[in-house]
Amino acid sequence: MAESTDAREEEMPELSDCEEEEEEDEGQWLEEEEEEEEAAVSCLFCDRSLSSVPVTLQHCTAEHHVNLVDVIRKHSLDDYGYIKMINFIRSKKCDASCLTGLSDGPLPWESEDFLRPVLQDDPLLQTDPEELCDLQGSGVSACPSSGAPSHDALLHRARAAEERARQSEEALSRAMDDLHKLKVLAQGLVLNAAPGRAGNQGTVAELREDEDEAYFGSYGHYGIHEEMLKDKVRTESYRDFMYRNPDVFRDKVVLDVGCGTGILSMFAARAGAKKVIAVDQSEIIYQAMDIVRSNQLEDKITLIKGRIEDIRLPVEKVDIIISEWMGYFLLFESMLDSVLYARDHYLADGGSVYPDLCNLSLAAVGDTERHQNRIAFWDDVYGFNMACMKKAVVPEAGVEVVKADALISEPAVIQTLDCNRVCLSELEFASDFCLKITNTTECTAVVGYFDIFFDKGCGNKVTFSTSPQVTKTHWKQTVFLLETPMSVQAGEELQGKINVRKNKKDPRSLLVTLELRDRKQNYSL
Ligand code: SAH
Repeated sequence: MAESTDAREEEMPELSDCEEEEEEDEGQWLEEEEEEEEAAVSCLFCDRSLSSVPVTLQHCTAEHHVNLVDVIRKHSLDDYGYIKMINFIRSKKCDASCLTGLSDGPLPWESEDFLRPVLQDDPLLQTDPEELCDLQGSGVSACPSSGAPSHDALLHRARAAEERARQSEEALSRAMDDLHKLKVLAQGLVLNAAPGRAGNQGTVAELREDEDEAYFGSYGHYGIHEEMLKDKVRTESYRDFMYRNPDVFRDKVVLDVGCGTGILSMFAARAGAKKVIAVDQSEIIYQAMDIVRSNQLEDKITLIKGRIEDIRLPVEKVDIIISEWMGYFLLFESMLDSVLYARDHYLADGGSVYPDLCNLSLAAVGDTERHQNRIAFWDDVYGFNMACMKKAVVPEAGVEVVKADALISEPAVIQTLDCNRVCLSELEFASDFCLKITNTTECTAVVGYFDIFFDKGCGNKVTFSTSPQVTKTHWKQTVFLLETPMSVQAGEELQGKINVRKNKKDPRSLLVTLELRDRKQNYSL
């Protein structure tokens, strides 16, 4: 998407140039355009550098037996189609026969990726396809040996350029109108917003772009993607699910919500998907575009930059949605909201979201040393009493690795989500639970973690867990520290209640209230 904006930007200076030039002497204007065309042009099919665009066309016809104008006409290429064709030929270094042998089916340069120029300042990209057709139609010879263009031909070109300038002015005026409408709309939104912030309705779909900038900015850093890719438990589970269940993917249209580097899309393509649409709002998608191309998967995977909530997909429905949306304590980040949005808008009847099932669990922790290190620590910090900090640090849920031997209860599942059915309101919930205590000791914290299942219709089901009892993942565990330790007996059933909800001031973060016996503590994440 952004590349297409670039392509449009390239046209804008032309618009203002034309306006200025119009006031000047026609002859001088024509001369200047002539000069512009004198920039060296690299041939599309060989190493030759030619003196102008028309000469290049002539050269392609004479030496490589391909008439670009015929190709433009045959496939009714518009500006974007033409730009994509030029970049496709240059990036693939294909020879002329690949153009002449094209059938009527989809063109090999349909991907938006080909809007990105391969050569800097490519004169072929600065030439309008219509102009090329006019050039040939008007008899302005592309042949170097025919000498200077005739006066009639120059006049014809001037008229064509004037027409383009007029159309551009009209387009500009329409854009100005739209801008004005948007401004009025934005003013209305700001005025009508509740005091404090506009996006406080509690779902990420309602966040304004500027409110969500930091979130997507964080995914623009490469370190986070490196960490996710290196998390083998995570990435290999997605891979195994797709590679071991090719029946699920064969000939399917797949949507990857939040594609990042494109890894899941590439797994899906390799697993046999017919088409994969990969969407991400973060800048990482530009890397994904290169990655997909480097792996020759550009014909299968279409990448779109934008929020899934804001863009239009090139297809009406998809068969499968894949996404790695899980945050700390499963729901932090609220990216599941976006996956549910995609499901409700784009999933075909009978389609599936993967992963499909998730469990969120709690267990009791007895780790006195760690508790002292986090709480008693404040009693004496380099000889100063900072005990007031104790009450401040407890409500901040921690993300850390809990050792398996610190667990002092069996786990209790507090919520199960089926991504094919769950609705937005169920992502905020309250649940009673009971922790069966296994050791007589001091309970110092409660730990939270999740398990993920690729289940629906899978001959080979795949699952992974972020429990302290198995290989650690980049999600680690979420720790809810108790302000003071609580004595527990082996065999005891420790009763509790948890309430999980989005922070109204920031729907990407969570508020958790934990009740254990007669104690109650609020946490934020
Ligand atoms: N699928 C990749 C990246 C997962 S991280 C992988 O498995 O490695 C989640 C990605 O989703 C981030 O790159 C983030 O920018 C993107 N994302 C989150 N919400 C989104 C939304 N609403 N629209 C588009 N992209 C989104």
